[in-house]
Amino acid sequence: MAAFACVAYLRAEVAGQIQCALVTGKAKVAPLKLMSVPRLELQAGARLVESICSTHTLPITKRFIWTDSKTVLGWINSDQRRYRQFVAFRIGEILEKTKANEWHWVPSDSNASDDATKWKRGPNLCPEGRWFGGPDFLHLSEEYWPSIPEEKYDTTEEQQSSMVMHHYIIDSVFDWERFSNWNRLSRTVGFVVRYLGNLRAIARRLPTTKGPLSQEELAKAEAWIFHSTQKEIFAKEVTMLSTVDTTGKSVRLNSDSKLFKLSPFLDNNGVLRVETRISLAAFASYDTRNPIILPRYHRVTKLIILWYHQKLLHGNMETVISELRQRFHVSNLRTVVRGAVKECCRVSKAVPSVPRMSTLPAARLGAFFRPFTFVGLDYFGPMTVRVGRSNVKRWVALFTCLSIRAVHLEVVHSLSTESCKMAVRRFVARRGSPSEIYSDNATNFLDASNELRNEFRSINGNIAETFTNSNTKWLFIPRPPHTWEALGREWCEA
Ligand SMILES: [Zn+2]
Repeated sequence: MAAFACVAYLRAEVAGQIQCALVTGKAKVAPLKLMSVPRLELQAGARLVESICSTHTLPITKRFIWTDSKTVLGWINSDQRRYRQFVAFRIGEILEKTKANEWHWVPSDSNASDDATKWKRGPNLCPEGRWFGGPDFLHLSEEYWPSIPEEKYDTTEEQQSSMVMHHYIIDSVFDWERFSNWNRLSRTVGFVVRYLGNLRAIARRLPTTKGPLSQEELAKAEAWIFHSTQKEIFAKEVTMLSTVDTTGKSVRLNSDSKLFKLSPFLDNNGVLRVETRISLAAFASYDTRNPIILPRYHRVTKLIILWYHQKLLHGNMETVISELRQRFHVSNLRTVVRGAVKECCRVSKAVPSVPRMSTLPAARLGAFFRPFTFVGLDYFGPMTVRVGRSNVKRWVALFTCLSIRAVHLEVVHSLSTESCKMAVRRFVARRGSPSEIYSDNATNFLDASNELRNEFRSINGNIAETFTNSNTKWLFIPRPPHTWEALGREWCEA
């Protein structure tokens, strides 16, 4: 359709004679935007009626509006329905200007407005023709006019579709969150399964099962847990795979399914398993050949991972992954394992906190003094030295300048007080008298011998008396500020 048109006639009955005359006609080219025929027809009609009524002074007793579109009549007569916006707006406008019962149906061949749009046949423009005189039925009395029963106007075209969301949650019989241990969960399920079996056995007057759970019962319980878990997360896949088509084969999954690439199948217990390429490997167990599919984010998966992790003594993550892969298929397993293990092994991830360093003592910060004004003293050794034919022990007294970290070494022949005094004297003779000598209480000679540790205690008292004078002060500090200990160790190693 390239155009749409409408035409209006005035019909008068004067002294039993019916007279019809064209009042106005209007044709329009259809818009370039593709529109359905009923939509175009909806555009014409109502506005023309209104303009005629408002511009003519003749009293009009009755108005008849004809269209050959049953769809349009359907729309006008069913205003209670929700139509798409375009249709709804125009129906609203039509019903504002006209009444629904003024609209009537006319067969296409009696529709005079068609003459304005069907140009192929050429319009019949003679004064007695249909265009000027009106369609034939208008010249008859009203009961001969075309009509169809109103219920036939019904249409569903352009009706607005409304979405209904249907959402349902499959509740598990067990509250997985209540379990913190895979062993406990499988055993609990095992006992529930046994209880149900026992109920059936009592009804059939058969012996019931008692005692600890057998391996078969546990396997059954585990299968039940896997099946329930998969049914929760992969409900669609489980339903599809358990459906059998007319040829007796189970229905294949759609390609948009998350499990499509795994080629899953249901085993005898209804557990989803992966069809691998080693299905025929006789040496591997059934679980290894066809791993059980578990959802990534599920309590059961997490419990199983933690169980393996604890079974392997909180060990290497790769070992846990390798063990899990022998029985289960979990997508992106490494990430899942890392997440689950993080909650268990927090201690191994603890970072030791470094204590805050204190301020340096004044002796370490002495500026504009000659070297060895502030001296730290420590012994290291013993070292075995060859004297003549025998091996003797010798120690080394390490004097360090606390300001510039210069080092002076003196050999000490024994751990006696006299040896120490002589070493200090030799040092003073060479480097000048220090104003402060620091030494520890010989309790923390980490690398020194026990002997040295014991002897130094007695030395301390004597040498302090000897060397503390107006120039020099001997100080004992409980813990040296990382000054000479490290130096001593370095010299020892060198
Ligand atoms: Zn752990």
